[in-house]
Amino acid sequence: MEDGMHMTITYQVGKGLYLNITNQCPNRCDFCVRTHSDFYDGSNSLWLEREPTSDEIFEAICKEDLTTYQEIVFCGYGEPMCRMNQLLEVAEMLKKITSLPIRVNTSGLSDLIYGQPTAQLMQGLVDTVSVSLNASTPEKYDQICHSKYGLDALPAILEFTKEAVSYLPHVVMTVVDVIGQEEIEACRALCQQTGAEFRVREYID
Ligand code: SF4
Repeated sequence: MEDGMHMTITYQVGKGLYLNITNQCPNRCDFCVRTHSDFYDGSNSLWLEREPTSDEIFEAICKEDLTTYQEIVFCGYGEPMCRMNQLLEVAEMLKKITSLPIRVNTSGLSDLIYGQPTAQLMQGLVDTVSVSLNASTPEKYDQICHSKYGLDALPAILEFTKEAVSYLPHVVMTVVDVIGQEEIEACRALCQQTGAEFRVREYID
């Protein structure tokens, strides 16, 4: 949706209806699309002039033909969990109008953002959480993601993921294939400790 002032809230990737709800993020990842370009998969600029309200997000979704999608994904140009309350409100509204599964793509840092456990809050509202793992040690994570939480980031991500596994139907941790085989295996071992499914993603520049 475009309202004339760079408010692209929805965009399509494959069979997914993607939602762009914030520019905020506690990280500054080297590989982030935010640092390289303001276009993503051919959609219009995803940089939001201001953050949309829950109602605006819901209205943008309602303008779409939901029967043409297989999934609704909170993703976008920033960390969607920076707006967790709006995300949960919208998910609750969506659960009343569609049976499409709802996924959140996240850095997994929401426990640190809010200073409390957050995974359980998604129970019944979010079907899949996909957490970007990115690195196998707190130091390597810091080198790549430059999180404002520094070395606390990775342990919190793992804890969040473990909790998510106990409350949500489907939890995945992903790494990008460019990190090298050894690092991929180290990440796989970390992921196993959380109980989440492990997936290696192709890096798209
Ligand atoms: S966590 Fe995601 S949105 Fe945030 S900087 Fe990293 S890649 Fe970009």
